[in-house]
Amino acid sequence: MPVTTSAAPPATLPQDFGALLREDPEIADVLLGELRRQSGTLQLTAAENFTSPAVLAALGSPLANKYAEGYPGKRHHGGCEQADAAELIAVRRATALFGAEHANVQPHSGSSAVLAAYAALLRPGDTVLAMGLPYGGHLTHGSPANFSGRWFDFVGYGVDSESGLIDYQQVRTLARTHRPKAIVSGSISYPRHPDYERFREIADEVGAYFIADAAHPMGLIAGGAAPSPVPYADVVCATTHKVLRGPRGGMILCGAELAERIDRAVFPFTQGGAQMHTVAAKAVAFHEAATPAFAAYAHRVVSHARVLAAGLEAEGFDVTTGGTDTHLIVADPAPLGVDGHTARTRLAAAGLVLDTCALPYGDARGIRLGTAAVTTQGMGDAAMARLAALFGAAVREEGDVLAEVRELVAKFPPYPG
Ligand SMILES: *Cc1c(COP(=O)(O)O)cnc(C)c1O
Repeated sequence: MPVTTSAAPPATLPQDFGALLREDPEIADVLLGELRRQSGTLQLTAAENFTSPAVLAALGSPLANKYAEGYPGKRHHGGCEQADAAELIAVRRATALFGAEHANVQPHSGSSAVLAAYAALLRPGDTVLAMGLPYGGHLTHGSPANFSGRWFDFVGYGVDSESGLIDYQQVRTLARTHRPKAIVSGSISYPRHPDYERFREIADEVGAYFIADAAHPMGLIAGGAAPSPVPYADVVCATTHKVLRGPRGGMILCGAELAERIDRAVFPFTQGGAQMHTVAAKAVAFHEAATPAFAAYAHRVVSHARVLAAGLEAEGFDVTTGGTDTHLIVADPAPLGVDGHTARTRLAAAGLVLDTCALPYGDARGIRLGTAAVTTQGMGDAAMARLAALFGAAVREEGDVLAEVRELVAKFPPYPG
């Protein structure tokens, strides 16, 4: 969809762009264009959400100027009083929210968190068992294009091609055959809850660490809408920007006995100075995620995904695993006569923004979408049912879906007022 921009800010700016408009109209125009894109189309990318104005305010705060290598009370730089306070608050809130003994809130991203977890527990050349990339394993789960695939010997488990569910018997057999040093749960496209207890048992059986990469569901876990890996995993890695609705970034949770190793693996082993404005924004997000309103949000995200998944099935899409337990839906549009790439292009033309993704069978790609952002926008079950119908119409190229999508976003603006 062509994005038109102008120098005049729309009425719904989340922040004061005044200084930017005066100082750098060229980049201001880009940011305003992005604001219009986000508020003129529907964001169904499963990994995205809309942060609150409070999170955005922390990101745009003077802590962005502060260098703070090290940890609170042990910094390499002077003037870290407020930086220390921000990080201590973020750590206190994260450990309380997730019931963990230790939290490191410095990882710059989910990938940085996973890199640090591997650095803390493994040596180059060690064997790691994780979900295979064709089934939804993340790049950090052994992609040859990523440090993980280059430095470790990854073995991939899959899902049952009929049910689309993780085959724990296969996980166990692979673990007993390959004796991995670590077993990783987590995926970019698995719509069901991993069985953390089962992973723990298998890891114990072969003497492996269990790393839960909960980048996607961490916000559902915070809101009590998904089971927590914290009681079972040695280390939990996560992002803060997916369902959790915080700033772009990562975090690591672990028990007290691994705390020092994890901290040293983040700084100084894999990172330099923490981004203290982001750490402050993470603290804001944890505060928001601890409220009953967020718990209700997390449960709505899941119920909306269920309604949308059922609606997509009714439209003829083949939804993997027959539905979802999370915010995430993977659907094969083949019954509608197109592959994932064509579906994504047609949906994008209709203002429905999402990704393609691997399907648990064959080589064709499907589509992956999530309900975190649209739920933040205040949409309900009726809007989900309407969305499913719009998906069908857009992929079949029937009617003016873009006009209907625009109507829907106007009714549920991401940045109202
Ligand atoms: C999103 C994701 C990551 C990485 O997060 P980035 O912030 O993009 O680096 C890692 N693992 C899984 C399973 C993810 O879904």
